Amino acid sequence: MKAIEVIDDLKRRFPNEPEYIQAVEEVLTTIEDTYNEHPEFERYNLIERLCIPDRIFSFRVSWIDDAGKVRNNMGYRIQHNNAIGPYKGGIRFHSSVNQSILKFLAFEQTFKNSLTTLAMGGAKGGSDFSPRGKSDMEVMRFCQAFIAELWRQIGPDTDVPAGDIGVGGREVGYMYGYYKKMAREFTGTFTGKGLEFGGSLIRPEATGYGNCYFLLNMLATRGIDIKGKRVAISGSGNVATYTAQKLLELGAVVVSMSDSSGSIYVPDGITPAMLDYIFELKNVYRGRISEVAEEYPELVKYYPGERPWHHVKCDIAMPSATQNEIDGDDARALLANGCIAVSEGANMPSTPEAIKEFLAAKILYAPGKAANAGGVATSGLEMAQNSQKLSWTAEEVDAKLKQIMANIHEQCVKHGTEPDGYINYVKGANVAGFMKVARAMMAQGVL
Ligand code: NDP
Repeated sequence: MKAIEVIDDLKRRFPNEPEYIQAVEEVLTTIEDTYNEHPEFERYNLIERLCIPDRIFSFRVSWIDDAGKVRNNMGYRIQHNNAIGPYKGGIRFHSSVNQSILKFLAFEQTFKNSLTTLAMGGAKGGSDFSPRGKSDMEVMRFCQAFIAELWRQIGPDTDVPAGDIGVGGREVGYMYGYYKKMAREFTGTFTGKGLEFGGSLIRPEATGYGNCYFLLNMLATRGIDIKGKRVAISGSGNVATYTAQKLLELGAVVVSMSDSSGSIYVPDGITPAMLDYIFELKNVYRGRISEVAEEYPELVKYYPGERPWHHVKCDIAMPSATQNEIDGDDARALLANGCIAVSEGANMPSTPEAIKEFLAAKILYAPGKAANAGGVATSGLEMAQNSQKLSWTAEEVDAKLKQIMANIHEQCVKHGTEPDGYINYVKGANVAGFMKVARAMMAQGVL
Protein backbone atom coordinates (compact mmCIF):
# COMPACT_ATOMS: atom_id res chain seq x y z
CA MET A 1 0.00 0.00 0.00
CA LYS A 2 1.04 3.51 -0.66
CA ALA A 3 -0.34 5.61 2.19
CA ILE A 4 -0.61 8.68 0.01
CA GLU A 5 -2.79 6.85 -2.54
CA VAL A 6 -5.16 5.52 0.10
CA ILE A 7 -5.42 8.98 1.66
CA ASP A 8 -6.06 10.64 -1.72
CA ASP A 9 -8.80 8.13 -2.43
CA LEU A 10 -10.43 8.75 0.96
CA LYS A 11 -10.20 12.51 0.38
CA ARG A 12 -12.04 12.05 -2.93
CA ARG A 13 -14.73 9.88 -1.37
CA PHE A 14 -15.19 11.91 1.82
CA PRO A 15 -14.33 15.46 0.76
CA ASN A 16 -16.07 17.18 3.67
CA GLU A 17 -14.45 15.23 6.49
CA PRO A 18 -11.15 16.98 7.33
CA GLU A 19 -10.77 15.65 10.90
CA TYR A 20 -11.33 12.08 9.73
CA ILE A 21 -8.76 12.46 6.95
CA GLN A 22 -6.29 14.05 9.39
CA ALA A 23 -6.54 11.11 11.80
CA VAL A 24 -6.24 8.52 9.02
CA GLU A 25 -3.25 10.30 7.49
CA GLU A 26 -1.38 10.32 10.80
CA VAL A 27 -1.86 6.59 11.26
CA LEU A 28 -1.25 5.44 7.69
CA THR A 29 1.95 7.39 7.23
CA THR A 30 3.42 5.84 10.38
CA ILE A 31 2.32 2.22 9.78
CA GLU A 32 3.10 2.12 6.04
CA ASP A 33 6.45 0.30 6.36
CA THR A 34 5.15 -2.26 8.85
CA TYR A 35 2.06 -2.88 6.72
CA ASN A 36 4.16 -3.45 3.62
CA GLU A 37 6.17 -6.14 5.40
CA HIS A 38 2.96 -8.21 5.26
CA PRO A 39 1.87 -8.76 1.63
CA GLU A 40 -1.09 -10.82 2.89
CA PHE A 41 -2.61 -7.60 4.33
CA GLU A 42 -2.64 -6.04 0.89
CA ARG A 43 -4.21 -9.13 -0.72
CA TYR A 44 -7.13 -8.73 1.68
CA ASN A 45 -7.26 -4.93 1.12
CA LEU A 46 -7.06 -4.67 4.86
CA ILE A 47 -6.17 -1.02 4.98
CA GLU A 48 -9.35 0.20 3.30
CA ARG A 49 -11.48 -2.03 5.48
CA LEU A 50 -9.72 -0.68 8.54
CA CYS A 51 -10.14 2.97 7.55
CA ILE A 52 -13.82 2.87 6.61
CA PRO A 53 -16.21 2.31 9.56
CA ASP A 54 -18.22 -0.91 9.67
CA ARG A 55 -21.41 1.16 9.82
CA ILE A 56 -22.78 4.58 10.73
CA PHE A 57 -26.14 5.30 12.29
CA SER A 58 -27.42 8.86 11.97
CA PHE A 59 -30.77 10.05 13.16
CA ARG A 60 -32.88 13.03 14.19
CA VAL A 61 -33.39 13.62 17.91
CA SER A 62 -36.52 15.63 18.71
CA TRP A 63 -37.12 16.85 22.23
CA ILE A 64 -39.08 19.58 24.02
CA ASP A 65 -37.32 22.41 25.88
CA ASP A 66 -38.54 24.05 29.10
CA ALA A 67 -40.40 26.72 27.13
CA GLY A 68 -42.43 24.01 25.36
CA LYS A 69 -40.61 24.49 22.06
CA VAL A 70 -39.79 21.44 19.93
CA ARG A 71 -36.04 21.21 19.26
CA ASN A 72 -34.26 18.97 16.76
CA ASN A 73 -30.66 17.76 16.87
CA MET A 74 -28.67 15.19 14.94
CA GLY A 75 -27.58 11.97 16.62
CA TYR A 76 -24.87 9.55 15.44
CA ARG A 77 -23.17 6.31 16.34
CA ILE A 78 -20.13 5.21 14.36
CA GLN A 79 -19.38 1.49 14.82
CA HIS A 80 -15.88 1.48 13.43
CA ASN A 81 -14.37 -1.96 14.02
CA ASN A 82 -15.18 -4.95 16.25
CA ALA A 83 -12.38 -7.33 15.26
CA ILE A 84 -11.01 -7.62 18.81
CA GLY A 85 -14.11 -7.01 20.95
CA PRO A 86 -17.52 -5.34 21.12
CA TYR A 87 -17.68 -1.78 19.76
CA LYS A 88 -16.63 0.62 22.51
CA GLY A 89 -16.28 4.39 22.66
CA GLY A 90 -17.75 7.51 24.17
CA ILE A 91 -20.65 9.77 23.33
CA ARG A 92 -19.93 13.47 22.74
CA PHE A 93 -22.54 16.22 23.13
CA HIS A 94 -21.19 19.49 21.72
CA SER A 95 -22.46 21.99 19.18
CA SER A 96 -19.47 21.24 16.90
CA VAL A 97 -20.25 17.51 16.56
CA ASN A 98 -20.57 16.21 13.02
CA GLN A 99 -19.88 12.98 11.17
CA SER A 100 -16.26 13.86 10.38
CA ILE A 101 -15.37 14.48 14.03
CA LEU A 102 -17.04 11.28 15.19
CA LYS A 103 -15.41 9.26 12.39
CA PHE A 104 -11.97 10.52 13.44
CA LEU A 105 -12.71 9.69 17.06
CA ALA A 106 -14.02 6.19 16.24
CA PHE A 107 -10.99 5.49 14.05
CA GLU A 108 -8.59 6.61 16.80
CA GLN A 109 -10.56 4.67 19.38
CA THR A 110 -10.00 1.41 17.49
CA PHE A 111 -6.20 1.68 17.84
CA LYS A 112 -6.38 3.02 21.39
CA ASN A 113 -8.59 0.16 22.54
CA SER A 114 -6.24 -2.31 20.91
CA LEU A 115 -3.31 -0.78 22.82
CA THR A 116 -5.03 -1.34 26.18
CA THR A 117 -4.74 -5.11 25.51
CA LEU A 118 -8.39 -5.49 26.59
CA ALA A 119 -11.09 -6.95 24.32
CA MET A 120 -12.71 -3.81 22.95
CA GLY A 121 -13.41 -2.69 19.39
CA GLY A 122 -13.72 0.95 18.36
CA ALA A 123 -16.77 3.23 18.16
CA LYS A 124 -17.89 6.78 18.92
CA GLY A 125 -21.18 8.61 18.96
CA GLY A 126 -22.77 11.88 19.84
CA SER A 127 -24.91 14.81 18.94
CA ASP A 128 -24.68 18.49 18.08
CA PHE A 129 -26.74 19.09 21.23
CA SER A 130 -24.89 21.17 23.83
CA PRO A 131 -25.79 20.59 27.50
CA ARG A 132 -24.29 24.01 28.35
CA GLY A 133 -27.04 26.38 29.55
CA LYS A 134 -29.70 23.64 29.56
CA SER A 135 -31.67 22.68 32.67
CA ASP A 136 -31.39 19.19 34.17
CA MET A 137 -34.86 18.38 32.83
CA GLU A 138 -33.90 19.47 29.32
CA VAL A 139 -30.75 17.36 29.45
CA MET A 140 -32.80 14.40 30.67
CA ARG A 141 -35.42 14.76 27.93
CA PHE A 142 -32.69 15.04 25.31
CA CYS A 143 -30.83 11.96 26.62
CA GLN A 144 -34.05 9.94 26.59
CA ALA A 145 -34.89 11.01 23.04
CA PHE A 146 -31.34 10.16 21.94
CA ILE A 147 -31.52 6.66 23.43
CA ALA A 148 -35.06 6.08 22.16
CA GLU A 149 -33.41 5.92 18.75
CA LEU A 150 -30.05 4.35 19.62
CA TRP A 151 -30.97 1.62 22.12
CA ARG A 152 -31.51 -1.07 19.47
CA GLN A 153 -27.94 -0.74 18.19
CA ILE A 154 -26.13 -1.09 21.54
CA GLY A 155 -25.79 -3.81 24.18
CA PRO A 156 -23.27 -5.32 26.61
CA ASP A 157 -21.72 -7.60 23.97
CA THR A 158 -22.53 -5.43 20.94
CA ASP A 159 -21.61 -1.83 21.56
CA VAL A 160 -20.88 -0.18 24.91
CA PRO A 161 -20.96 3.65 24.96
CA ALA A 162 -19.43 5.92 27.64
CA GLY A 163 -18.88 9.65 28.25
CA ASP A 164 -16.81 12.24 26.37
CA ILE A 165 -17.06 16.02 25.97
CA GLY A 166 -20.42 17.17 27.36
CA VAL A 167 -21.29 13.69 28.63
CA GLY A 168 -20.43 13.04 32.27
CA GLY A 169 -22.06 11.06 35.07
CA ARG A 170 -25.36 12.94 34.80
CA GLU A 171 -25.80 12.26 31.07
CA VAL A 172 -24.63 8.64 31.30
CA GLY A 173 -27.14 8.09 34.14
CA TYR A 174 -30.04 9.45 32.09
CA MET A 175 -29.03 7.49 28.97
CA TYR A 176 -28.44 4.26 30.84
CA GLY A 177 -31.76 4.63 32.69
CA TYR A 178 -33.67 4.96 29.45
CA TYR A 179 -31.70 2.17 27.79
CA LYS A 180 -32.58 -0.14 30.70
CA LYS A 181 -36.26 0.73 30.35
CA MET A 182 -36.33 0.08 26.60
CA ALA A 183 -34.18 -3.07 26.63
CA ARG A 184 -35.82 -4.42 29.80
CA GLU A 185 -32.50 -5.65 31.12
CA PHE A 186 -29.91 -4.50 33.65
CA THR A 187 -26.55 -5.03 31.98
CA GLY A 188 -23.27 -3.21 31.58
CA THR A 189 -24.29 -1.48 28.36
CA PHE A 190 -22.78 1.86 29.39
CA THR A 191 -19.56 2.57 31.26
CA GLY A 192 -19.00 5.61 33.44
CA LYS A 193 -22.19 4.69 35.34
CA GLY A 194 -22.86 5.81 38.90
CA LEU A 195 -21.33 3.65 41.63
CA GLU A 196 -24.80 2.61 42.85
CA PHE A 197 -25.69 0.98 39.55
CA GLY A 198 -22.61 -0.78 38.25
CA GLY A 199 -20.05 1.99 37.87
CA SER A 200 -16.41 1.34 38.67
CA LEU A 201 -14.39 3.15 41.28
CA ILE A 202 -11.66 5.29 39.63
CA ARG A 203 -13.50 5.44 36.26
CA PRO A 204 -14.16 9.22 36.57
CA GLU A 205 -10.51 9.79 37.48
CA ALA A 206 -9.04 7.26 35.04
CA THR A 207 -8.28 9.34 31.94
CA GLY A 208 -6.53 12.10 33.88
CA TYR A 209 -4.76 9.76 36.29
CA GLY A 210 -3.78 7.45 33.43
CA ASN A 211 -2.27 10.36 31.53
CA CYS A 212 -0.17 11.25 34.57
CA TYR A 213 0.99 7.63 34.90
CA PHE A 214 1.95 7.60 31.23
CA LEU A 215 3.82 10.88 31.70
CA LEU A 216 5.76 9.40 34.65
CA ASN A 217 6.80 6.48 32.45
CA MET A 218 7.97 8.88 29.75
CA LEU A 219 9.89 11.10 32.18
CA ALA A 220 11.58 8.02 33.64
CA THR A 221 13.15 7.24 30.24
CA ARG A 222 15.15 10.47 30.69
CA GLY A 223 15.56 10.28 34.46
CA ILE A 224 13.40 13.38 35.01
CA ASP A 225 11.55 13.88 38.31
CA ILE A 226 8.07 15.40 38.09
CA LYS A 227 8.36 17.18 41.45
CA GLY A 228 8.32 20.93 40.99
CA LYS A 229 7.73 20.74 37.23
CA ARG A 230 5.37 23.40 35.87
CA VAL A 231 2.49 21.89 33.94
CA ALA A 232 0.09 23.73 31.62
CA ILE A 233 -3.29 22.02 31.31
CA SER A 234 -6.07 23.05 28.95
CA GLY A 235 -9.73 22.32 29.63
CA SER A 236 -11.48 22.18 32.98
CA GLY A 237 -13.71 19.17 32.49
CA ASN A 238 -13.37 15.55 33.52
CA VAL A 239 -9.95 14.88 32.05
CA ALA A 240 -8.39 18.22 32.98
CA THR A 241 -9.53 18.29 36.60
CA TYR A 242 -8.42 14.76 37.45
CA THR A 243 -5.12 15.35 35.68
CA ALA A 244 -4.62 18.41 37.90
CA GLN A 245 -5.59 16.45 41.01
CA LYS A 246 -3.03 13.71 40.36
CA LEU A 247 -0.33 16.24 39.42
CA LEU A 248 -0.78 18.08 42.74
CA GLU A 249 -0.49 14.76 44.54
CA LEU A 250 2.77 14.10 42.65
CA GLY A 251 4.23 17.46 43.64
CA ALA A 252 3.97 19.17 40.23
CA VAL A 253 2.88 22.80 39.82
CA VAL A 254 -0.27 23.24 37.70
CA VAL A 255 -0.14 26.69 36.14
CA SER A 256 -3.14 26.79 33.81
CA MET A 257 -6.60 25.51 32.96
CA SER A 258 -9.15 26.72 30.42
CA ASP A 259 -12.57 26.37 28.84
CA SER A 260 -13.92 27.35 25.45
CA SER A 261 -14.17 31.01 26.54
CA GLY A 262 -10.60 31.53 27.79
CA SER A 263 -7.82 30.38 30.07
CA ILE A 264 -6.46 31.09 33.53
CA TYR A 265 -2.79 31.49 34.41
CA VAL A 266 -1.76 30.78 37.99
CA PRO A 267 1.97 31.63 38.22
CA ASP A 268 2.42 30.10 41.69
CA GLY A 269 0.34 27.05 40.89
CA ILE A 270 -3.24 25.95 41.50
CA THR A 271 -3.74 25.11 45.18
CA PRO A 272 -5.80 22.12 46.40
CA ALA A 273 -8.48 24.55 47.66
CA MET A 274 -8.59 26.27 44.28
CA LEU A 275 -8.96 22.90 42.54
CA ASP A 276 -11.85 21.96 44.87
CA TYR A 277 -13.47 25.24 43.91
CA ILE A 278 -13.00 24.42 40.19
CA PHE A 279 -14.55 20.95 40.66
CA GLU A 280 -17.61 22.45 42.28
CA LEU A 281 -17.80 25.32 39.82
CA LYS A 282 -17.74 22.94 36.87
CA ASN A 283 -19.78 20.02 38.17
CA VAL A 284 -22.34 21.63 40.47
CA TYR A 285 -22.82 25.21 39.27
CA ARG A 286 -21.70 24.49 35.70
CA GLY A 287 -19.92 27.86 35.70
CA ARG A 288 -17.06 29.31 33.63
CA ILE A 289 -13.30 29.22 34.26
CA SER A 290 -13.23 33.05 34.33
CA GLU A 291 -14.97 32.83 37.72
CA VAL A 292 -11.79 31.36 39.24
CA ALA A 293 -10.03 34.68 38.56
CA GLU A 294 -12.94 36.51 40.22
CA GLU A 295 -12.71 34.24 43.27
CA TYR A 296 -8.88 34.46 43.51
CA PRO A 297 -8.00 37.89 42.01
CA GLU A 298 -4.57 38.03 43.67
CA LEU A 299 -3.42 34.64 42.39
CA VAL A 300 -5.11 34.12 39.04
CA LYS A 301 -5.00 35.98 35.76
CA TYR A 302 -7.71 35.36 33.16
CA TYR A 303 -7.05 35.52 29.41
CA PRO A 304 -10.38 35.76 27.57
CA GLY A 305 -10.50 33.90 24.24
CA GLU A 306 -6.98 32.52 24.65
CA ARG A 307 -5.56 29.03 24.99
CA PRO A 308 -2.81 28.56 27.60
CA TRP A 309 0.12 27.79 25.28
CA HIS A 310 1.61 31.24 24.62
CA HIS A 311 1.53 33.18 27.88
CA VAL A 312 2.44 30.34 30.23
CA LYS A 313 5.97 29.26 31.06
CA CYS A 314 5.85 25.50 31.54
CA ASP A 315 7.98 22.36 31.44
CA ILE A 316 5.11 20.09 30.48
CA ALA A 317 1.89 20.56 28.50
CA MET A 318 -1.15 18.32 28.97
CA PRO A 319 -3.83 19.43 26.48
CA SER A 320 -7.13 18.10 27.83
CA ALA A 321 -9.89 20.03 26.03
CA THR A 322 -10.45 19.19 22.37
CA GLN A 323 -9.01 18.37 18.93
CA ASN A 324 -6.57 20.69 17.14
CA GLU A 325 -6.10 22.96 20.14
CA ILE A 326 -2.30 23.18 19.67
CA ASP A 327 -1.30 24.44 16.24
CA GLY A 328 2.17 24.99 14.80
CA ASP A 329 2.53 28.44 16.37
CA ASP A 330 1.41 27.16 19.75
CA ALA A 331 3.91 24.29 19.52
CA ARG A 332 6.75 26.68 18.67
CA ALA A 333 5.75 28.94 21.60
CA LEU A 334 5.73 25.96 23.98
CA LEU A 335 9.17 24.84 22.80
CA ALA A 336 10.57 28.36 23.02
CA ASN A 337 9.29 28.55 26.60
CA GLY A 338 11.23 25.41 27.52
CA CYS A 339 8.57 22.69 27.27
CA ILE A 340 10.19 19.24 27.44
CA ALA A 341 7.13 16.99 27.35
CA VAL A 342 3.61 16.95 25.91
CA SER A 343 1.21 14.26 27.04
CA GLU A 344 -2.22 14.41 25.44
CA GLY A 345 -5.36 13.98 27.54
CA ALA A 346 -7.60 15.10 24.69
CA ASN A 347 -7.99 13.24 21.41
CA MET A 348 -5.86 14.66 18.56
CA PRO A 349 -5.27 18.02 20.31
CA SER A 350 -2.10 18.70 18.28
CA THR A 351 -2.30 19.55 14.58
CA PRO A 352 0.03 17.70 12.17
CA GLU A 353 2.26 20.80 12.08
CA ALA A 354 2.49 20.88 15.87
CA ILE A 355 3.37 17.17 15.99
CA LYS A 356 6.14 17.77 13.44
CA GLU A 357 7.58 20.48 15.68
CA PHE A 358 7.53 18.25 18.77
CA LEU A 359 9.14 15.33 16.95
CA ALA A 360 11.77 17.53 15.30
CA ALA A 361 12.68 18.98 18.70
CA LYS A 362 12.85 15.38 20.02
CA ILE A 363 10.91 16.21 23.16
CA LEU A 364 8.83 13.59 24.93
CA TYR A 365 5.57 13.59 22.99
CA ALA A 366 2.71 11.17 23.76
CA PRO A 367 -0.27 11.11 21.40
CA GLY A 368 -3.71 10.86 22.96
CA LYS A 369 -4.32 7.34 21.78
CA ALA A 370 -1.57 6.16 24.12
CA ALA A 371 -1.63 8.76 26.90
CA ASN A 372 -5.39 9.02 27.42
CA ALA A 373 -6.15 5.31 27.00
CA GLY A 374 -6.56 4.93 30.77
CA GLY A 375 -10.17 6.11 30.48
CA VAL A 376 -11.31 3.41 28.12
CA ALA A 377 -9.08 0.85 29.83
CA THR A 378 -10.93 1.47 33.08
CA SER A 379 -14.18 1.27 31.15
CA GLY A 380 -12.97 -2.19 30.12
CA LEU A 381 -12.43 -2.94 33.81
CA GLU A 382 -15.96 -1.70 34.52
CA MET A 383 -17.29 -4.12 31.87
CA ALA A 384 -15.34 -6.97 33.47
CA GLN A 385 -16.79 -6.15 36.91
CA ASN A 386 -20.32 -5.86 35.48
CA SER A 387 -20.16 -9.23 33.77
CA GLN A 388 -18.96 -10.85 36.99
CA LYS A 389 -21.49 -8.81 39.00
CA LEU A 390 -18.90 -7.66 41.53
CA SER A 391 -16.98 -4.49 42.39
CA TRP A 392 -13.27 -4.08 42.88
CA THR A 393 -11.77 -1.63 45.39
CA ALA A 394 -10.33 1.71 44.30
CA GLU A 395 -6.83 0.39 45.07
CA GLU A 396 -7.37 -2.66 42.86
CA VAL A 397 -8.62 -0.60 39.92
CA ASP A 398 -5.89 2.01 40.31
CA ALA A 399 -3.20 -0.68 40.40
CA LYS A 400 -4.59 -2.25 37.22
CA LEU A 401 -4.74 1.19 35.57
CA LYS A 402 -1.09 1.86 36.43
CA GLN A 403 -0.11 -1.53 35.04
CA ILE A 404 -2.05 -0.97 31.81
CA MET A 405 -0.44 2.46 31.27
CA ALA A 406 3.00 0.91 31.86
CA ASN A 407 2.17 -1.81 29.28
CA ILE A 408 1.07 0.77 26.73
CA HIS A 409 4.28 2.70 27.33
CA GLU A 410 6.29 -0.48 26.86
CA GLN A 411 4.56 -1.22 23.55
CA CYS A 412 5.31 2.32 22.34
CA VAL A 413 8.97 1.91 23.26
CA LYS A 414 9.12 -1.46 21.52
CA HIS A 415 7.62 -0.29 18.24
CA GLY A 416 8.68 3.36 18.27
CA THR A 417 12.35 3.49 19.25
CA GLU A 418 14.40 5.00 16.42
CA PRO A 419 18.02 4.13 15.58
CA ASP A 420 19.31 7.14 17.57
CA GLY A 421 17.36 5.99 20.64
CA TYR A 422 14.60 8.63 20.37
CA ILE A 423 11.23 7.14 21.24
CA ASN A 424 8.68 8.12 18.61
CA TYR A 425 5.51 7.47 20.60
CA VAL A 426 3.30 8.31 17.61
CA LYS A 427 4.79 5.54 15.54
CA GLY A 428 5.01 3.16 18.49
CA ALA A 429 1.35 3.57 19.43
CA ASN A 430 0.10 3.34 15.86
CA VAL A 431 2.10 0.25 14.93
CA ALA A 432 1.29 -1.61 18.16
CA GLY A 433 -2.42 -0.74 17.99
CA PHE A 434 -2.61 -1.61 14.30
CA MET A 435 -0.91 -5.02 14.38
CA LYS A 436 -3.33 -6.58 16.84
CA VAL A 437 -6.42 -5.40 14.95
CA ALA A 438 -4.87 -6.39 11.60
CA ARG A 439 -4.10 -9.93 12.74
CA ALA A 440 -7.62 -10.36 14.11
CA MET A 441 -9.14 -9.07 10.87
CA MET A 442 -6.99 -11.42 8.80
CA ALA A 443 -8.02 -14.42 10.89
CA GLN A 444 -11.72 -13.57 10.58
CA GLY A 445 -11.81 -13.25 6.78
CA VAL A 446 -13.37 -10.55 4.63
CA LEU A 447 -16.43 -9.24 6.47
P1 NDP B 1 -15.64 17.63 29.39
O1 NDP B 1 -16.87 17.97 28.66
O2 NDP B 1 -15.71 17.14 30.78
O3 NDP B 1 -14.64 18.87 29.36
C1 NDP B 1 -14.23 19.44 28.17
C2 NDP B 1 -13.42 20.69 28.47
O4 NDP B 1 -12.82 21.15 27.26
C3 NDP B 1 -14.27 21.82 29.00
O5 NDP B 1 -13.48 22.63 29.83
C4 NDP B 1 -14.65 22.55 27.72
O6 NDP B 1 -14.97 23.90 27.89
C5 NDP B 1 -13.36 22.43 26.92
N1 NDP B 1 -13.68 22.47 25.49
C6 NDP B 1 -14.53 21.68 24.81
N2 NDP B 1 -14.58 22.03 23.52
C7 NDP B 1 -13.72 23.06 23.39
C8 NDP B 1 -13.31 23.86 22.30
N3 NDP B 1 -13.82 23.66 21.08
N4 NDP B 1 -12.39 24.82 22.52
C9 NDP B 1 -11.88 25.04 23.77
N5 NDP B 1 -12.24 24.31 24.84
C10 NDP B 1 -13.14 23.35 24.66
O7 NDP B 1 -14.88 16.55 28.45
P2 NDP B 1 -13.72 15.54 28.83
O8 NDP B 1 -12.85 16.13 29.85
O9 NDP B 1 -14.34 14.23 29.06
O10 NDP B 1 -12.94 15.43 27.43
C11 NDP B 1 -11.84 16.29 27.10
C12 NDP B 1 -11.01 15.64 26.00
O11 NDP B 1 -10.52 14.37 26.46
C13 NDP B 1 -11.77 15.34 24.70
O12 NDP B 1 -10.88 15.47 23.62
C14 NDP B 1 -12.15 13.87 24.86
O13 NDP B 1 -12.36 13.23 23.62
C15 NDP B 1 -10.88 13.35 25.54
N6 NDP B 1 -11.05 12.10 26.26
C16 NDP B 1 -11.96 11.95 27.26
C17 NDP B 1 -12.07 10.76 27.93
C18 NDP B 1 -12.98 10.59 29.10
O14 NDP B 1 -12.87 9.56 29.77
N7 NDP B 1 -13.84 11.53 29.42
C19 NDP B 1 -11.26 9.59 27.55
C20 NDP B 1 -10.26 9.87 26.54
C21 NDP B 1 -10.20 11.07 25.92
P3 NDP B 1 -16.52 24.40 27.87
O15 NDP B 1 -17.05 24.00 29.20
O16 NDP B 1 -16.44 25.85 27.63
O17 NDP B 1 -17.18 23.66 26.74
